[in-house]
Formats: sequence, C-alpha cells, structure tokens
Amino acid sequence: MSKIAGFDINDEWILSCRGRKNNPDPLRPYAWLVEKERTPAGTIEEVLTVFLTNRECPFHCLMCDLWKNTVDEPLPDGALAGQLEWALTNAGTVKHIKLYNSGSFFDKRAVPVREREAIASIVKGFETVIVECHPFFINDECPDFRDKTGADLQVAMGLECANPRILSLLNKRMTLGDFADRTEFLLDNDIFTRAFILLRPPFLEEEEAIFWSKRSIDFAFDTGCECCTIIPVRGGNGSMEKLQENGLFGLPSLTSLERVLEYGIEKQAGRVFADTWDLELFSKCNKCYKSRLERITEMNLQQRIIWDIECDCR
Ligand code: SF4
Ligand SMILES: [Zn+2]
Repeated sequence: MSKIAGFDINDEWILSCRGRKNNPDPLRPYAWLVEKERTPAGTIEEVLTVFLTNRECPFHCLMCDLWKNTVDEPLPDGALAGQLEWALTNAGTVKHIKLYNSGSFFDKRAVPVREREAIASIVKGFETVIVECHPFFINDECPDFRDKTGADLQVAMGLECANPRILSLLNKRMTLGDFADRTEFLLDNDIFTRAFILLRPPFLEEEEAIFWSKRSIDFAFDTGCECCTIIPVRGGNGSMEKLQENGLFGLPSLTSLERVLEYGIEKQAGRVFADTWDLELFSKCNKCYKSRLERITEMNLQQRIIWDIECDCR
C-alpha cells in the first residue's frame, strides 16, 4: 500500500473509484485499426492492431482504463481466435500485427494455452507479431510462442515511469529491476521489447514529468529495449479524476509530448513513438493543434526532428 496526500493508493481504493464497463461483445474485438509505423529496418509499413475483448487484467494500475472494455464472465472456448479471424477478414492484407488484450498475452487466465496455440497458427506467415504483457508473465512460453508463429515477436511492456517512488504509487506491482530483468531475458531469446512510457503520471508537475519521461527513455534503452512509446496520461478511469480534483494529477500538454519525442529521437538509440490517439485532449490551442498532430505523426514515421510550429501560444 502506498499513502500520499491522504490517499491510500491500493487495489481497493482504485476499484472503488471506477464507473461502469462498456459491456463489449465477447465474440468481437472491441476495436481494430490499421496504421502506418516505422519498422526497425527503417521502412514504413502498415500494422494492424486488434484490441481483443478479454477478461480483466489481474493488476489494477492507478492510471489504467483498459478494464472498461473487458468482460466479467470467462470467454467461450475459441472466442479470442474467433475475434482475431474476424478482424483479419475485415482488415485486408497486412504483414505486421499487434494483439492487445487489455492485460498480459502470456497470462494463461487471459489467453488460455489452447487459444494461444490457435492464435499462433492464425498469425503464421505474418512478419511481425507484437503482444503486450506485464513482466510478471514473461517466461519460456514467450520464445515458444514465437517459434510457433514463425514471426519476429515483439513484446510491449509498461515501464511507465523510471522514478521508483512514482512507479510504486502506480500500483503496477513491478520494480525497475523486474522490468530490466525481463527485457534482458527477452533479448537473450531474440525478442524485442517495446517500452510503454507515461508522460505525466499523477504526482508530477509538468516539468518534472518531462524530466522523468526522458529518464524513462534512457532507462528503457539502457536495459535493451528496442522501441519506446510515449503515452500522455489521461483521465477517465475514476481514480485519475479523484486525484485531479485534489491537485495530484493534471493532463500533460501537447508541446511536452513533442519535447519528449524530440529527446528520444535525438538519442538515436532505437525507435521512439508518441501515441497519437485522442491527442486533441492535450492541446491548449485550437490554432496549432492540427499542425502539431501532423508534426508528431511525421516524426513518428521519419524518426527525425522536423519543422517546429510557430504559434502565439508558445
Ligand atoms: S498491467 Fe497493464 S492492463 Fe493490467 S492494470 Fe496495469 S496497465 Fe492495465
Ligand atoms: Zn498554438
């Protein structure tokens, strides 16, 4: 349990702040999209992301809202493989796929072994398969799954924040040492790690948040990650709103995201992306929002720093 400013940050409190779930269909992914992404080889290719409808993650991270699109009952046998097949039928031809399941792909309660085997056969022939997983569930089954797919496997893990105190307040149940250890294990098995890094988790002011996002990029690359994705933290899960009301959380700005992305790209230590989903939420200026979105998208693709935006809001 972590106590700060009168709040006991623990599972019980986080769960008590929640609203209702979105009640997704267990036989369909709750979303899917195809977007362009720069590959480690430097080409720009289309990647399909399938957001599988799944049961809830056993962890309850303070900033997480992925539980909203999960179901409470166990999924019917074959439901995950069926969701994937449905997405592939709708998405057309792609060579790279992200399978995001609102939790950990190698958690057997989330993706039972039989489903994982079925998924491995479905994605055979893809060049790259990317899954998400908490370090706790990373073990020998990862290279085994990779071998069954015949694809390059990448695992996305939430590093979140390299500040140990903040990381512990996030209720992630992971230390920086755990993250480094599992990244090394994956690398030893020729599996790339993508680090999810938060921009402005709760309890940090804007400048401190920029500082810690940069340190998190340093930490990720030092431990052997191949790629970092910077995710600006938003509200929406109940606990973040409670913290915001008490001055313990504030939305980061779009310009901070640009600064962190620039820093990461300048390092040239691996790919660095800014998450572009719903970025309008973080814009403080209607005049330059579209140009900033375009700039961030281009920097994601080109992995170099491009034109700066001139605007009165600076
Ligand atoms: S481990 Fe990931 S999916 Fe699970 S609660 Fe934390 S952030 Fe959400
Ligand atoms: Zn502006």
